[in-house]
Amino acid sequence: MQQLILPVLLASFWTICTGSADWCYQSQFTCDHQCNTPDKWNLAHSDCGGKYQSPINIVTRKTLKDERLTPFEFNNYQQIFRDTIKNNGHSVKVGVPHLSTISGGGLPTTYKAVQFHMHWGKHGGPGSEHTIDGEQYPMELHIVHMKHHYTDLTTALSDPEGVAVLGFFYERSNSANRKYDPITNALRSITITNSNTSLPSISLAQLIPAEQNLTSFYRYKGSLTTPGCTEAVIWTVFENTIPLSMDQLRVFSDLQFHDGKPMVGNFRPVQPLNGRQVFRSGGAVILVSSTLLLAAIATALGLSQPN
Ligand SMILES: [Zn+2]
Repeated sequence: MQQLILPVLLASFWTICTGSADWCYQSQFTCDHQCNTPDKWNLAHSDCGGKYQSPINIVTRKTLKDERLTPFEFNNYQQIFRDTIKNNGHSVKVGVPHLSTISGGGLPTTYKAVQFHMHWGKHGGPGSEHTIDGEQYPMELHIVHMKHHYTDLTTALSDPEGVAVLGFFYERSNSANRKYDPITNALRSITITNSNTSLPSISLAQLIPAEQNLTSFYRYKGSLTTPGCTEAVIWTVFENTIPLSMDQLRVFSDLQFHDGKPMVGNFRPVQPLNGRQVFRSGGAVILVSSTLLLAAIATALGLSQPN
């Protein structure tokens, strides 16, 4: 009898753990909490196993310059709004009134802002979703937009080009970015999953680099980076970064997942390109290793020297 108990116990434990578990990030997986980590998202959400998934690692020397990737036109990005900031158990999310729009930038039409959220690491460590030549930044901002004529994201996601996400990397700086005070201050009130608080007045423009510094970006077609992983996203990843101090980066780690554990490492690992081409705007530079660069300069100097 006793010999039977352990396997039965294990089997029921397994069913409870895998059957009822919601999706989670790798950082959430423990023996006590066997949730569906990114490699298993496709079990419950088949699109997560698709061919055109996000995020990706952008290999800059393999990107193709595309003259059609003209600068974006940001409309009403300066618009001041008040909304709630919520800990949704996976990230912090802020709803945005659909007044701010983007066009240009090689997009097929005008897209309006819906919400923004972030992905981050542990205490300011690596945490971005996209990587550039293998480099993972401490944090990444996603401003989610949908085609202007849609009224909800669900409908937009049924259109293969229905959603446009602007991705921005954060970089550690020596001084605090005061424009982020409303966000970082609000985090204290939403440490627990499903809690929310109202944000003081902010604009999307204050959260991102100045418009003239947004002409360099990468473009590819991909998916949402959380389940259902719908492949309906035109991705833009900007080269210019947003500065935050170490203290500002760290406060995001004070948030909690639903089980009370620190909300850290809420990023999906990079996905295979599967033959996709990544394009770059005219302003984006190919990162050359300093050794190669020095060699190139030396060669150039050598050639230009009079014999
Ligand atoms: Zn995201």
